[in-house]
Amino acid sequence: MKVYFIGAGPGDPELITVKGSRILAQADVVIYAGSLVSVRILSWCKDGAVILNSAGMTLDEVCGVYEENRGRAGLIARVHTGDPSLYGTIQEQMDFLRSRAIPFAVIPGVSSFQAAAAALEQEYTLPGISQTLIITRASGRTGVPEKERLQVLGQSQSTMVLFLSISCIEKAVEELMSCYPEDTPAAVVYRASWEDQKILRGSLGTIASQVRAAGIRRQALVILGDVLKGEYELSRLYDPAFTHSLRKGKALS
Ligand code: SAH
Repeated sequence: MKVYFIGAGPGDPELITVKGSRILAQADVVIYAGSLVSVRILSWCKDGAVILNSAGMTLDEVCGVYEENRGRAGLIARVHTGDPSLYGTIQEQMDFLRSRAIPFAVIPGVSSFQAAAAALEQEYTLPGISQTLIITRASGRTGVPEKERLQVLGQSQSTMVLFLSISCIEKAVEELMSCYPEDTPAAVVYRASWEDQKILRGSLGTIASQVRAAGIRRQALVILGDVLKGEYELSRLYDPAFTHSLRKGKALS
């Protein structure tokens, strides 16, 4: 069996990649992260596929499924939410597979931070405002290295997206206040791309109480930064006075 890690996308079943859905349709065994992956994704699976929800399984149990099927013909699809490279716990699974000489491949997916930008109709990198996106999380049950504390990362005042932090948003806001002014625009996107998606817009100073008032406790991203203000320099890419290499016939780097 070959194991395919598939990024299922942020929720909307149409946001899986063409390649991901093709492999899913061929898989004999499907292990999906039931807490965040839409069951509608499973409509791609073939009849007779064994479908397991990893929400009720330990890592050892998931690896046990890989081990059991080792050497057999066929495919296992391990379906993760968004893109598996972010907070996906796939490294330990890949290391296990490598140690057992079980072949595997990773098919990327659309991450929730990208779906959130689409929902907000927002570009994260605007000329003169921020050319950097920091993807991080507040420290919670899983610790964050000391040198990546929000008070340290925030010093550049770059656009920031916080994963896995909505349940401790007060603490995150307090830490961020040491770097970003209180009136820095902030947004929360709950269940980006799902039918019940919700968007809250406010500022660093107001967003925590807005989250509480809306009763949002999970499956949400916090987005922070002056890009949300809507004032920026026009991109020089489309400036007629700016002859860039593409117009001169060279590839952009
Ligand atoms: N690999 C995933 C992230 C997994 S960690 C990805 O690339 O998106 C789980 C966290 O991701 C959640 O706590 C939440 O912060 C965020 N998340 C996942 N799906 C989301 C969605 N549709 N909308 C908003 N946040 C989401």
